[in-house]
Amino acid sequence: MLDNYIKEQPIACQIIKNAILKNRCSHAYLIEAKEYERKYDFVLSIARYFLCPNHHTQKPDKFCPICSKTAENILDLKWIRSDGMWIKKSQMEELQDDFGKKPLESNKKIYIIENADRLNESSANAILKFLEEPEENIIALLIVDNLYQVLPTIVSRCQIISLKNVRKYESNDTVANLSHFIIGISIDKDKVDAIVNFAIFLEKNGQATILYENNLWLDIFPKKEDMLIAFDILLYFYKDIIEIKCDRFIEIFRDYSEIITNIAYDNDLIQLCDKIGLIMEAKESVMMNLNMNLVLDHLICKMKEVKICRK
Ligand SMILES: [Zn+2]
Repeated sequence: MLDNYIKEQPIACQIIKNAILKNRCSHAYLIEAKEYERKYDFVLSIARYFLCPNHHTQKPDKFCPICSKTAENILDLKWIRSDGMWIKKSQMEELQDDFGKKPLESNKKIYIIENADRLNESSANAILKFLEEPEENIIALLIVDNLYQVLPTIVSRCQIISLKNVRKYESNDTVANLSHFIIGISIDKDKVDAIVNFAIFLEKNGQATILYENNLWLDIFPKKEDMLIAFDILLYFYKDIIEIKCDRFIEIFRDYSEIITNIAYDNDLIQLCDKIGLIMEAKESVMMNLNMNLVLDHLICKMKEVKICRK
């Protein structure tokens, strides 16, 4: 029930309650969950609250047709998750067929998309039609850990609800924090330092970084697997810079706060988002076995261009 989350997610709860109270529900909510542990239960309680004819927020009412049922048994609720890498276009088409019919037990229909970052071009196109021609009684709840993972065409058509970061663990040790996010791989302080040094050098010297890329990167991360970890560390580093840029807290690189603050000061938010996009592209290229030297050269040049273009 919604009120179970009021302490941890007060703003999100208020947004949802106001929507019903003022009768102004958005047709699509993109919920940025930031690894919130109870994200799926929370989103389900939002769906229940919307669907329940009495909008119960407290104890489950055993006579209520919506609150008393499990998620699978609520007829006007559909939960979509990828079975594999991507959410398939056929899943979206099935949804469209299903949602062409009127609600059965509520006055609304709701679909939840788990991991909205797994919508690829074709399934996203199918859902965009839904989002562009909203039907009054259909509400979409899209869940993703970080907004920048979702296609911009989708983000722009949704009301965004960012959940509060409820930390399960607190540590000022960057290596420990990273090990929590990049699971199954041992990360050591030297590698983290190397990536931070690379970023500092690149931010300061731009394209000239190419001259030093062996020392700064390739000698330390010689194999494909090393390189992929390095890109992950770099991604989390820039993510923390964005956190600071948005007046939030450093989540991982706490013992590099001065460096992070300086880079945040030198870049605007769009530049930082562009840079994250470039790092993700570089990582993908390495995954597709492109030449690692070339990928790194390309990344360095593009990162520099981001700065020139925006200034
Ligand atoms: Zn109810």
